[in-house]
Amino acid sequence: MAYVGASPVMKTAAIRIRLTFWYFAMFATAACLLSIASWWMLQRSVDATEYHDLQERAEDVQLLLLNEDPNRSIDELRQDFTQIYSIKDDGKWLQVADQDGRWIYRSRRMIAENPELPRPEQLPKMGVIAEFHQGTRYVRILAYPIQVRDKKYSVQTGIALNKSMALLKSFGADLLLLTPAMILFASLGGHWMSRKALRPVALLAAEARCINDRNLDRRLPVPQTQDEISDLSNTLNQMLERIDKAFASVRAFTGNASHELRTPITLLRTEIEVALIRPRDGEEYRATLSHLHHETVLMTRLVENLLSIARADAGAERVNLQPIDLNDLFHRMDRDWIDSMHLAGLDFRTEIGNEQHQALGDPSTLPRLLSILLENARKYTPAGGSVVLSAVNESAGIRIAVQDTGVGISQKDLPRIFDRFFRGEQAGIAESSGSGLGLALGKWIAERHGTELVVASSPGCGSSFSFTLLRATPAPLKRASLPYLLEDEEEIQA
Ligand code: ADP
Repeated sequence: MAYVGASPVMKTAAIRIRLTFWYFAMFATAACLLSIASWWMLQRSVDATEYHDLQERAEDVQLLLLNEDPNRSIDELRQDFTQIYSIKDDGKWLQVADQDGRWIYRSRRMIAENPELPRPEQLPKMGVIAEFHQGTRYVRILAYPIQVRDKKYSVQTGIALNKSMALLKSFGADLLLLTPAMILFASLGGHWMSRKALRPVALLAAEARCINDRNLDRRLPVPQTQDEISDLSNTLNQMLERIDKAFASVRAFTGNASHELRTPITLLRTEIEVALIRPRDGEEYRATLSHLHHETVLMTRLVENLLSIARADAGAERVNLQPIDLNDLFHRMDRDWIDSMHLAGLDFRTEIGNEQHQALGDPSTLPRLLSILLENARKYTPAGGSVVLSAVNESAGIRIAVQDTGVGISQKDLPRIFDRFFRGEQAGIAESSGSGLGLALGKWIAERHGTELVVASSPGCGSSFSFTLLRATPAPLKRASLPYLLEDEEEIQA
């Protein structure tokens, strides 16, 4: 079923059609109202002119009576009136009576119609208007009270309305012809205007349809008009820019990830194939298996990091902040890392002091962050050096740092170490064991804790990576400073 107005048909119609419809509806209403108003105003001014005409005629009668000798009898007055008004045009529709109801003058037409003429004291000051048909004429009469010296009279004058009616009729006919023509013309104009206004949008849509995942670097044309359309084009282009970047980073990530995985898998395959070429003794198999084991540990770590980063990108990795006992955590770290640090010939210490350190942290990702930093410290510190994991109370919270006396990072590499898959060139140290994902993941974990991973390093002297955790005090969290922790707030306060 087809509806009009805010109907389903209108809702689904093209904007161009809807604009034309609204333009038509508004213009038609305005044109009709204007036509009715102008017709009504013309009729009012015609009425007013005619009333004044009739009033003037009545006042002429008053003037005539005023100039008459007051001692003249009523018959003499009748004669005077007949003499004057039988030849005057004003006299065609005229009757005059005195206050006693005696006729002074009556035209033939008035006698034929015989309209009622009230006594002067019964008439209002502005008189009384009446209308009637006589033959082909349409007549309007005014019964008007006048006073001459101490006597009152009723005067009734009339006027044929045929001329003014013809004027109104022809004006009405003109309006009936002009109004639809104007509406039609305006609707066509509205349709043309909306087409013209929406043409750039259609062009934009056509251009946008040509953009796909293979040509995301293409941009929409921006008109030089500085209007809504150029604004829309610019906004869409900015969106395309962001999508392009995101796509490029996903492509780079996928490419890097597959490259990173292919290298160790090829290595494993080659090593197994070499081992299988000929029979070997137990010691040789043992050495090969031990090497394979080392490679699979590295691969597992790589896959874990890749998965974590992919999950973080997808928003699936959740950080659940809750009070964490740092003394416990440091104890665990010490237990987990001491052997491997000693094996690398490093001195490893944790410095936390005796006071209770309760910080807000995520029980699964915070240890991960510390492990990333400790592993890097171990990898990039030559034997004989030292690694210190420390916690210090500061006004902003608890500052946790991993400091080493290793090779340090060059000024050139420093701005890039948090980039995904970036690996520095530290004199060939631990070349095959890194994937360049550790610090990228560490930075993300620190950010989800509402802090920043800060690095201070100088080549040859060592590096220090630090971040600050909020103290787990019973006081409520400041919303403004940590907006993204709010989703975890319930758990924190619990
Ligand atoms: P990788 O797996 O290569 O260690 P990361 O993302 O953890 O990847 O680190 C990126 C780069 O930052 C490293 O390749 C290294 O050049 C530099 N780096 C990180 N930690 C240290 C450190 N403690 N000392 C020296 N260089 C470091």
